[in-house]
Amino acid sequence: MFYESTRDKNRKINPSEAILQGLSEEGGLFVLRNLGEKKLDLNNLIDKNYYQVAEAVLKLFVDFTDEEIKNCVENAYRGKFSHEKITPLVELSDGYVLELFKGPTSAFKDVGLSLLPQLTKTALTKVNDKNDILILTATSGDTGKAALEGFKDVDRTKIMVFYPNDGVSVVQKTQMQTQEGKNTKVCAIHGNFDDAQSGIKELFVDNEFKKQLLEKNIKLSSANSINIGRLIPQVVYYVVAYLDLVNNKKINLGDKVNFVVPTGNFGNILAGYYAEQIGLPVNKLICASNNNNVLYDFLTTGVYDKNRDFLKTVSPSMDILISSNLERLLYYVSGRDNEYIARLMKDLKETGRFEVTPEILSIIKEKFQAGYTTDEDTKEIIKKIYNKDNYLLDTHTAVAYKVLLDNLDKNHANIVLSTASPYKFTESVYSSLNTPSNEDEFTLMEKLHEQTKVDIPENLQGLDKKEIRHKDVINKEDMKKYILEKLGEL
Ligand SMILES: *Cc1c(COP(=O)(O)O)cnc(C)c1O
Repeated sequence: MFYESTRDKNRKINPSEAILQGLSEEGGLFVLRNLGEKKLDLNNLIDKNYYQVAEAVLKLFVDFTDEEIKNCVENAYRGKFSHEKITPLVELSDGYVLELFKGPTSAFKDVGLSLLPQLTKTALTKVNDKNDILILTATSGDTGKAALEGFKDVDRTKIMVFYPNDGVSVVQKTQMQTQEGKNTKVCAIHGNFDDAQSGIKELFVDNEFKKQLLEKNIKLSSANSINIGRLIPQVVYYVVAYLDLVNNKKINLGDKVNFVVPTGNFGNILAGYYAEQIGLPVNKLICASNNNNVLYDFLTTGVYDKNRDFLKTVSPSMDILISSNLERLLYYVSGRDNEYIARLMKDLKETGRFEVTPEILSIIKEKFQAGYTTDEDTKEIIKKIYNKDNYLLDTHTAVAYKVLLDNLDKNHANIVLSTASPYKFTESVYSSLNTPSNEDEFTLMEKLHEQTKVDIPENLQGLDKKEIRHKDVINKEDMKKYILEKLGEL
């Protein structure tokens, strides 16, 4: 089993190396060349729980032993999610909602970032690397916290997260400042997200810095969603959701279903494509965007063009103009044509735009559909579904729910992927149901709870009363010095 770079078929590595390395040196993403050759045995998985399905899926993507895989899955999820099913499926009047937010930070990134550290740790032993791993991450809010929770106290790993001091919500900041764990460090940067991000990027190509780390037996890695180790765990819940419908006699085994996915970096929906490739009966994967609808345009016209204004929306985790994981889909639908992908990505880098051939567009359209939702409609849907189904959607899920209603396919079961708890975006959800309020987010959480009786996730309850453990604020120029200094404490 080997992975290769999307842009160069001569760059081949084994699964462990792909997980540790994250990104190929020339900028390509690691992909399994023979994806789909081996299929899942769905018949055999019907009565199985999340853990068992996860093991079966992982076997198709990594060359770990059965025992290693089992340990990874157990350590990632057992006792860490607030629902025994990990990703429960809820039936509403127009479709099903797959709740992916039962993890330690109440966002779907927990599913990938709980398993990635376990895969990383195992990969280190597989390749017999004696170094420990240091995860460096810049975050605009959600990813950093989910990565911290995932890597917290995992052997042979350390994690440092940098966030823009004025660029995250109060809840997000408090979540990070109260982070526990012996191997975690959180630090604010004077500046915006780009400052934090570019500071990290410079360090990843700083050979002097990497040498200094190696002298301390430490290698750098990232928890970015281009890491294949974050993507593989997400394939699992597509299969679990499908089997749930079979088990509850909502569909027969073999019936095709639609998935509607609120999309930003194209990671989540790509996992759905992987699920389909390994044998899950999927009719359509429906890509839902907010007003940053670069993917909607691409999936309808074949032209990807990021030369447009970046818009701030009420679904901020989907405010993205470069959807990195799309490159992996393009690799497969072009017939694994690495040179073609390298050309497209060169176009994107140089002109901010690329265009695929009509043949490739029609292959994509066989499996993908797209829609987008404005902020106004997003908030309206939250209110409408609350009144109709007594169910509280978060803003990202609401974007997808509107796209579901716009494209309602009565011939198939429809599953909307829900990527966050409504309490993660309290202010927007609250003001969808009520007139906007100036009160702080923690007060609004309580009010929203009183109004709707929807439970506040435990990790967000009483957050404002937890001990602040990380107070450092530094200039971007001092990141390197800071890291080398603070490593000793981890
Ligand atoms: C990251 C995120 C998304 C987008 O997922 P991608 O894998 O980047 O497409 C959607 N919703 C929420 C709440 C997220 O945190």
